[in-house]
Amino acid sequence: MCMTTKESCTDRFDAMLETRGVTRRRFLEFCGAIAVSLGLSEAMVPSIREALAESVIGKTEGALTPVIWLELASCTGCTESLASAETPDVATIVLELLSLNYAETLSAGAGFSLEEAKEQTIEAGGYLMVVEGALMEGWEGNALKIANEKAIDIVRHTASKAAAIVCAGSCAVDGGWQAAVPNPGGAIGIQPFLERSLADGSFTYEPNPGGLPPIVNVPTCPSNPEHIIAVLVDVLLVGKLPELNHLGVPSLMFDQYIHDNCPRRGHFENGEFVYQFGSEEERKGYCLYPMGCKGPQTKNNCPIVRWNRRVSWCVEAGAPCAGCANANPTKQGYNWVDLNTPFLKRFKNLTIGDISVQPALVGAGVAGLVAVALAAHGVGMKLTGRTKGGADFEEVRAWDKKHPDKAIGVAAAAATSEESKASDAEGGDE
Ligand code: SF4
Ligand code: SF4
Repeated sequence: MCMTTKESCTDRFDAMLETRGVTRRRFLEFCGAIAVSLGLSEAMVPSIREALAESVIGKTEGALTPVIWLELASCTGCTESLASAETPDVATIVLELLSLNYAETLSAGAGFSLEEAKEQTIEAGGYLMVVEGALMEGWEGNALKIANEKAIDIVRHTASKAAAIVCAGSCAVDGGWQAAVPNPGGAIGIQPFLERSLADGSFTYEPNPGGLPPIVNVPTCPSNPEHIIAVLVDVLLVGKLPELNHLGVPSLMFDQYIHDNCPRRGHFENGEFVYQFGSEEERKGYCLYPMGCKGPQTKNNCPIVRWNRRVSWCVEAGAPCAGCANANPTKQGYNWVDLNTPFLKRFKNLTIGDISVQPALVGAGVAGLVAVALAAHGVGMKLTGRTKGGADFEEVRAWDKKHPDKAIGVAAAAATSEESKASDAEGGDE
């Protein structure tokens, strides 16, 4: 705790940031981003600023929280993503708020001395363990070795005394893209691995034998720096884990569908879709659902928090959501790649709310739901006079008639049946 008054804490913290080139205004923007990530109102920004200033000054006067950042099988995208966070820069955030005792990518030290630092940190206990990348169990754990030690042993050992574990990115949550079929290296997430190790007796959590360490899963590929920073602020400064849902994922960030907050949602409701890249519909910014957008089945706050210093995000940049936040530590094989490929085609499975529709039913079931919603909306528009005159509603869109293979659900069925009626009329049964 800061031993001085609130005013002098915030003043001293502002001065500390200024020496690192971070202005007060940029720091307030950063507090605003944390408020958004945590689902708080802008009115909370001054309180967040005070809490941060008090905690950071307090911590720099006392002992910083030690952190071990394990880099497992990954593309290092999560570190890169965090390193691109600008307000304040990564050095300020990471190094002022915590003592990064071990990180293969970010530590200045290397080799024996770095491994020694990790060992001493584990020995002392009470550290935060951050994991980036998938754990590889394949070939009896030889699929991934670091400093000549199997990663499966490193993870068990490091987790045994951790105060909490943050799994940064979908790979650390459930194996991510590396766990996609055929998964020869045996990629797996940290939580399922530790659960299994606990069950077979190969892992003991020393502070609570018989239990697991607290685990915060932060999916997305890579992890969004705003999410990681907000979780670190919660854990390190506020001293508590964020509220988690049944997947161990922070609720406030991951409990809403992308589709619910998407700026193209109006086009979805109006049945205005992009069916081909480079088309007029794409130029008009119509909904990307037929191009494989997984927004209706992916929970994340990308449309609100956004990416690249909050400049834009996938759908706004014109790319369908690939569903990279669909990580599930409770079901092996539900990684986002197996679940969502092929990315540029419509889903294999669709989940809206609690309704999950299997591939064979997609045409009938989902399109039925969508069609009902669209028809209700369209009829409502006509009845209330919001659309006047014009042609009656088409049974099948002209484009769908021409391209039944690319049409959605009932439109596809109707287009195919119109096609077969036409072919029956032309050529009979041949
Ligand atoms: S389907 Fe995708 S592009 Fe269309 S409204 Fe939903 S999230 Fe946005
Ligand atoms: S919009 Fe979809 S693909 Fe893009 S980052 Fe968010 S969850 Fe991942």
